[in-house]
Amino acid sequence: MSLSPSARRTLSSVCFGLGSVWAVAGVFKLLFGVRLALPILPPLGLERVAAWPSIAVAALLFGLGAWLGRASSLASDDVDNALRSVPRKNDPTGFTDTWREAAVNADLLPVYSDWETCFAITREADVVYSDGSWSNAKRLANPRYRHIVFAQAAARYPEFTKLRPLRQPSDPDCPSCHGTGRVRVGDTTYDDMICECGGLGWIPKGTALEQL
Ligand SMILES: [Zn+2]
Repeated sequence: MSLSPSARRTLSSVCFGLGSVWAVAGVFKLLFGVRLALPILPPLGLERVAAWPSIAVAALLFGLGAWLGRASSLASDDVDNALRSVPRKNDPTGFTDTWREAAVNADLLPVYSDWETCFAITREADVVYSDGSWSNAKRLANPRYRHIVFAQAAARYPEFTKLRPLRQPSDPDCPSCHGTGRVRVGDTTYDDMICECGGLGWIPKGTALEQL
């Protein structure tokens, strides 16, 4: 499932809100038993909750909220530093007067390009692609395509490893590279080419590449 950054932020806020209610319910029950409850609790029936399970639920919700919030955007200082660091020393693809320079000027982290399209990461950790120019950048919605861009972004910007997709137990090996993450034709390996798995060796289950 792919969530937009704004959806993640909203869910994060909901988790913190619900976590606070459960935490208050649990702590009050622990401290005061049934003698005291906040006005908010009786309508929710939370004055009857068990203390420790409530606190455990609150901790889980806080953790989920923090994870969603953290994953929803990149640290502003880190992005500033990354934008200043482009092009990097070992980068063979050039910079001046290229789409990459245009992306940086548009406050986007350039990732890679194929024959027709250029891909970049926003400060909100979202994927966009150029449609002629970065002023018309469009959000990339296809989860299968986003997998590739996130994998490549994490590989090219080691400070943003959190962008790397996390493999779930049901995600299959990449059918093209059979799990190696490298493009191989016959006996030759092409390290400058990007496999359809983004180099991770696996693809998200149930997804398919869609034409942009
Ligand atoms: Zn592959």
